[in-house]
Amino acid sequence: MLDDRSVNEQQPSTAQPGSDSGTTAERSGALSLDELQDQMESIALGQSPNEGRFCAFCYGRLSEPIRRRPSRLPASLCEYCGTASDQLRPVREVPAEVLGIYLAKRRREGLIVNLFAFLGIFLALAISAGIWLATPDNLWKIAPFAVLVLGSYYLARVAGYNVGVPLGSTSGRKLRNERWTAYLQGRNTVEALGEP
Ligand SMILES: [Zn+2]
Repeated sequence: MLDDRSVNEQQPSTAQPGSDSGTTAERSGALSLDELQDQMESIALGQSPNEGRFCAFCYGRLSEPIRRRPSRLPASLCEYCGTASDQLRPVREVPAEVLGIYLAKRRREGLIVNLFAFLGIFLALAISAGIWLATPDNLWKIAPFAVLVLGSYYLARVAGYNVGVPLGSTSGRKLRNERWTAYLQGRNTVEALGEP
């Protein structure tokens, strides 16, 4: 027996024009900038080309659509933020401003790691100076030099890797995320005003 209601019910449920299946805030929340970090660094450093198809929301590289039927290219879904390419048209390159945001994290990390490595060397220098003063005037005077050479190598590595890397990556991540949020706000304002 055919149920009329079930047929009728299905008809009005077509997609309403203008309904967006994901607001900017939703996409932003699902997006992890860490996943894009390596990709963006490699583009910024010229190791991979800044051309192709990129998500217009997060600028992650989109996989190539299957070109079997050129008249009906299937929409690809951004694997980083979930934006569909028919929702927001893909862009051909990542804006320099966005690459700068990711480079800022890298620079901040490098700065902090180096800072702690130098602190390690300075510590070794201070220790070896102490040993120099404490040792009697004989062959033991060689000891501070050994401490300086081996100690600065060891302490620079320990301070750089064990302290500098975690602190640097936390600090760099914070800087990058803040800049990205500011960038998104700026972009939304431009979109709201209408592109010139
Ligand atoms: Zn995306």
